[in-house]
Amino acid sequence: MSLNKSISYINGFGLNRTKVLEKELKIYTLNDLLYFFPRRYVDRSKFYTPSEIDSTSAEIQIIGIIKDLKIISGNKGNRLIAKLCDEKSCVELVWFKGIKWVESKININQKYLAFGRVNKFGNNLSIPHPEIEIYNYEKLKHKKGSFQPIYPSTEKVIKAGLTQKKIRESVYNLLKDYKKEINEVFSNDILKKYKLVDKKKALFDIHFPKNQKDLNNAEYRLKFEELFFLQLQLALKKNKRKIDLKSFSFPNVGKYFNEFYEKYLPFNLTNAQKKVVREIRKDLKSNAQMNRLLQGDVGSGKTIVAFLTILICIDNDMQSAMVAPTEILAQQHYNKIKSMCDPLKIEIGILTGSTKKSERTNILNKIDNGSMKILIGTHALFEEKVKFKNLGLAIIDEQHRFGVAQRSKLWLKNTVPPNVLVMTATPIPRTLAMTVYGDLDISVIDELPPGRKPINTVHRYESKRLSVFKFLKEEISKGRQIYIVYPLISESKKLDYKDLMDGYESICREFPNEKYQISIMHGRMNSENKALEMERFKNGITQIMVSTTVIEVGVNIPNASVMVIESAERFGLSQLHQLRGRVGRGTYKSYCILMTNLKLSEEAKTRITSMVRTQDGFELAEIDLHMRGPGDIMGTQQSGLSTFLIADIKNDNEIFKISRHAVNELIKYDKKIENKANINISNALKKIEKGNNIWKYIG
Ligand code: ADP
Ligand code: MG
Repeated sequence: MSLNKSISYINGFGLNRTKVLEKELKIYTLNDLLYFFPRRYVDRSKFYTPSEIDSTSAEIQIIGIIKDLKIISGNKGNRLIAKLCDEKSCVELVWFKGIKWVESKININQKYLAFGRVNKFGNNLSIPHPEIEIYNYEKLKHKKGSFQPIYPSTEKVIKAGLTQKKIRESVYNLLKDYKKEINEVFSNDILKKYKLVDKKKALFDIHFPKNQKDLNNAEYRLKFEELFFLQLQLALKKNKRKIDLKSFSFPNVGKYFNEFYEKYLPFNLTNAQKKVVREIRKDLKSNAQMNRLLQGDVGSGKTIVAFLTILICIDNDMQSAMVAPTEILAQQHYNKIKSMCDPLKIEIGILTGSTKKSERTNILNKIDNGSMKILIGTHALFEEKVKFKNLGLAIIDEQHRFGVAQRSKLWLKNTVPPNVLVMTATPIPRTLAMTVYGDLDISVIDELPPGRKPINTVHRYESKRLSVFKFLKEEISKGRQIYIVYPLISESKKLDYKDLMDGYESICREFPNEKYQISIMHGRMNSENKALEMERFKNGITQIMVSTTVIEVGVNIPNASVMVIESAERFGLSQLHQLRGRVGRGTYKSYCILMTNLKLSEEAKTRITSMVRTQDGFELAEIDLHMRGPGDIMGTQQSGLSTFLIADIKNDNEIFKISRHAVNELIKYDKKIENKANINISNALKKIEKGNNIWKYIG
């Protein structure tokens, strides 16, 4: 308990220092300080002489004799320069502050140990503001083989006298004085099975490792613990949901499903689609609420899976709702699904922001009296006026476009929540998915329908524009259609609009309307015009669709074979991948042309070359994650990912898997964590539930 005391109990931590630590580093209690891990370590066992240094050295220790000491005045003020030398060369130690004091402490011709970061200007090596001490062999002997922790700090912290040294000492004393308070949380079995060092050792070694091996073991153990508790929470939550949240069970697969499957299924399902349908079937048979995320790359065929799920729902005499993020997409789903419903004589409707009033009233009536079985639409479906007679299934397409709160509005339409299927074409790495969507079950369609030809992706600089146009003309003459997409980034809507319009004009000049028809589409158009343009393009009346990213998600026009992305360097990786997914949907050879400026940032280069290299959405997602970190990926904020102290979801994949295995093993035998051997785990869990930084509560 006493580790919960304020840090003001520490010797030398007065009111001021305590306040600064609280404010600057969020360290309030002794426990917080214990879990204030070093940012990095300096290997104090290695010593260099000036002639051994190369400029790439990080912070290092250098032994030499001070040969020269002088103050030089410059236009930015004075500086003190001391030359630290061996027989062959010297390195300059430089101070800009505290010059007089330092000068008075340094003796010429004495041997010193300096510590700091080496800079190189031309041939001149220097270390600004090094730590120095008189070289003392006896003293250094004891330090041999020890890594020194370097803690995160700020200027205010240092100014309050909380130097690295002071913090180091405080942590050291804390570890010594409170040794008894540091309790193991895992059972001996777990420690042994997963080869974890015990908690006391781990905490000691994360601050003061003797060598790299000890440090690695300590890190491993603590990362394991962090990931273990995160996943344990999620697993228990999921189990609880399965017990608590009842929904409608759909025991029957009947007339509608079977008739469609036997007579009207437009193609054979891929094995991946079949597998997912089975997983969904299993969910629907139970009376726990289905809460399933269907991940499948663009074009993997999620829509048909959604429709089959709807048919099962109708076989059990209940209604389904399907929500898409844009009107275009809702319309497209509606057209597709309606054509499949017609032979089965199932009534289906579409409701969006632009549905006419009379039509709206009609639809609202029909879903209220239950005669309409399927309602497709946009956010409009979330409105309170939309009342179903018996909503059994809610499907959300491109779910990352919706907020959690929005989604749950659909649930609230019944006293019993409907079964929920959310679909996304934005693949996220599995580890991340399990964490972000930890309380959803996950299905993956990891196979594209047969016959898809790979999309030939190329990168072209502006200077190659003419040959790109020539290529587009060839494709059009073969009867294909083309997308040309311009970036739209909300901060500069005006500018983007101008880009689009300029682009459109130049395209019109290049593709004169005696010969070519061009569609244009952007966010400023009303939905009626958008739908009209989409229709024209879909029916092949226009050959080129110039647009912003409004066509990004879901649009399916198999005859379109080329996707040209203008200023491709301005798009994110997942967006580029989404856009590319608009082509290659038919049997034609397809192309994606990434147009960019000559000058590209390193990141943009990586994005473009990755796109050219691979078409695997999951691989791209991994790359994206590595470049951007999980913070930017939807939903990570709520998931506790961003509060990891030591684990790193990007790089600790292996530990993630192993700790997940440990969690699964644990709850297999001890469902609610009630066994005596696991009492510490269950106690820790109870505390963790109070907040999301596990270390604050585990103690
Ligand atoms: P997405 O997963 O991106 O939503 P869609 O459901 O729109 O993909 O499917 C993309 C295209 O692939 C559609 O034209 C669809 O009819 C077709 N398709 C889906 N599944 C199969 C399959 N098993 N065999 C052949 N074509 C399929
Ligand atoms: Mg889709």
